[in-house]
Amino acid sequence: MKKIVIIGAGASGVYLSILLKQKNPCYEVIVLEQNKAPLKKLLATGNGRCNLSNQKMNSKYYQSDNQELVQSIIQDFDMVQQMQKIGLYCTYQGDLLYPKSEQALTVKNVFMQRSEEKGVIFAYDQEVTQIQKHKHQYLITTTSQQILADAIVLAMGSEAGKLSGMNHSRYDLLKQLQLKIIEPMPSLVQFYTSPAIKSLKGVRVKGTFSLIENQQCIHKEKGELLFTDYGVSGIAVMQLSSFYKKHHNYQLYIDFFDEISHNQLCQLLSNQTSLFLEGLINHKLAVYFQKYQHLSIEKLASLLKHYPLNIQGVREASYAQVMKGGLSLDNVTEDLELKQYPHIYAIGEILNVAGMCGGYNLHFALASACHVVEAIEREKYVKNS
Ligand SMILES: Cc1cc2nc3c(=O)[nH]c(=O)nc-3n(C[C@H](O)[C@H](O)[C@H](O)COP(=O)(O)OP(=O)(O)OC[C@H]3O[C@@H](n4cnc5c(N)ncnc54)[C@H](O)[C@@H]3O)c2cc1C
Repeated sequence: MKKIVIIGAGASGVYLSILLKQKNPCYEVIVLEQNKAPLKKLLATGNGRCNLSNQKMNSKYYQSDNQELVQSIIQDFDMVQQMQKIGLYCTYQGDLLYPKSEQALTVKNVFMQRSEEKGVIFAYDQEVTQIQKHKHQYLITTTSQQILADAIVLAMGSEAGKLSGMNHSRYDLLKQLQLKIIEPMPSLVQFYTSPAIKSLKGVRVKGTFSLIENQQCIHKEKGELLFTDYGVSGIAVMQLSSFYKKHHNYQLYIDFFDEISHNQLCQLLSNQTSLFLEGLINHKLAVYFQKYQHLSIEKLASLLKHYPLNIQGVREASYAQVMKGGLSLDNVTEDLELKQYPHIYAIGEILNVAGMCGGYNLHFALASACHVVEAIEREKYVKNS
């Protein structure tokens, strides 16, 4: 009997365990998890609603060191159909796919129910600290035991969100195996800004937001921004953060009036009451902008359409939704098998694949699990024929 050990009981690892047992009921499938419970991060996704996928699925919404491989993995995976097969009914809200229940909890319950009824073995409080070659197998060492495995799947995710452990064992394991790692960095995360406008804390702005470097626009997002006491947050900011690189100097330009032209804004400004900007923007913003009362209407309109904030950096991993970087795709074959270690595969966020907000990361986590199960099936077929 073949023994397959999955390291990590996150979305990718648990889903993979279900598919493996579905196709091969006689395989022994063991999931080793360092936490006391599975799927902690999944419960927090989509604000507890679990945004599973996106109607607009394309590798251009991901950052990676092998876009072609990402495209081949994501394109063939039909999330609605695959989830329905395991008993989870999902529906689109606009482009975003959610479980019909709109509860991440029900996704967790379905995943765990399915894997347990198929006989997957879960072992918690098992931080894997070492993997060694042992004849034709691998010897896995955890904090409390050693296990021999015929195949291993690395599904260790990332430290983003603090929900799957902030320790470095996942990267230490990769280093021990002498694999190429791209330095992990928080993404889909808030910005520290200078100034951090504390008086605007809690103010939400709808507009267009641009990430600017050396007067050049790196990326633009239309959406919502939230002022905080450290800087700025909101979906548009999270999306922009995925374009942020260390040691670069960026500014964030806010267009508070993206729905109208500069000239139309000048017209509005010339009609305003004696209460500066009142009636045109949020009251707290109007108060904040009083210091610009002396400006001409032309200059004020320019400022409101290109209001600059200096970006001091991105917030730490514990606030991020994903980490950019991780295991370089140079290490793996098209089947996501490690080139240097046959029968060790990698899936999900441990890989250097980071999607935008909008269901892209869970889509990749589950699609990559499915991709690896198909590869294991093909290998079995080749061996048996
Ligand atoms: C707050 C928040 C909201 C999000 N919302 C969404 C969303 O709505 N839609 C979306 O697509 N994506 C979302 N994401 C991102 C998405 O959740 C992740 O990309 C996805 O869950 C990654 O799954 P994974 O299985 O690869 O890794 P993880 O979920 O990180 O799981 C990895 C598991 O491996 C375990 N592990 C690590 N190292 C070891 C070790 N050495 N030994 C044993 N176990 C180990 C960890 O404890 C963890 O349980 C969100 C993320 C956060 C933090």
